[in-house]
Amino acid sequence: KDFRNNVKPNWCPGCGDFSVQAAIQRASANVGLTPENLAVVSGIGCSGRISGYINSYGFHSIHGRALPLAQGVKMANRDLTVIASGGDGDGFAIGLGHTIHAIRRNIDMTYIVMDNQIYGLTKGQTSPRSSAGFKTKSTPKGAIEPSINPMEMALTSGGTFVAQGFSSDLKELTSLIEQGLNHKGFSLINVFSPCVTYNKVNTYDWFKENLVKLSEVEDYDAHNKEAAMQTLMKHDGLVTGLIYQDIEQPSYQELIDGYDEKPLSAQNLQLDENYFNDLVKEFM
Ligand code: SF4
Repeated sequence: KDFRNNVKPNWCPGCGDFSVQAAIQRASANVGLTPENLAVVSGIGCSGRISGYINSYGFHSIHGRALPLAQGVKMANRDLTVIASGGDGDGFAIGLGHTIHAIRRNIDMTYIVMDNQIYGLTKGQTSPRSSAGFKTKSTPKGAIEPSINPMEMALTSGGTFVAQGFSSDLKELTSLIEQGLNHKGFSLINVFSPCVTYNKVNTYDWFKENLVKLSEVEDYDAHNKEAAMQTLMKHDGLVTGLIYQDIEQPSYQELIDGYDEKPLSAQNLQLDENYFNDLVKEFM
């Protein structure tokens, strides 16, 4: 099925987000989805436009809030495959609380972060993923804080599928998204997606020189959390591939009685008609 629509992306030529869009479209087709059973929910930022560029249900939401909306969509309609997406500012600054709780909640959905280590839409400010010393208009003398490491954070938050890709490696990125879509639980895929207009440090060439592919690391075991953490620390988070997967952990939905019978939106919650009146009275 074709996940392309006739909307022309207005990202800058060369922006890494083009490849993320292509990878989502290819992966969705490869796992057998159709446009009517996929929902893409995005946040705010250049990356947030992606929900309008994919032929599926789409919701361009508000800053840092793609995950609450996406989780609501999945809980209300179990028949939809749900992808949330946004930038590193969206997911690791204003939305960080939602990210951590979504990871530990393990709802069956996929979160794809387009990580360009800068705020692009607002014309180039330091983001939580910018390295210490990074100079922009907002940190003209260089960022003082070190950057967040989202993969280490995901491991310590109970992540059951933690992966990282690179826009320039469309084959690996497509495969990671396919694996994430097939994972029973919350899959987080952070994608190094260069901002060619404002980030002149973390360029395609910089990533090609610094990234390590886990598929080329001898005996790397993506089911060993301790080894995953050690590998991330050794390479300062600059790895691509499937970092960690736990296939034993049940998803949030699997722990809810009746979820499999019909969507929650169609279930009778069997609340007494006075339930809400009594609740209000309690707080009066
Ligand atoms: Fe992409 Fe940067 Fe242009 Fe935004 S400003 S579209 S992130 S290259």
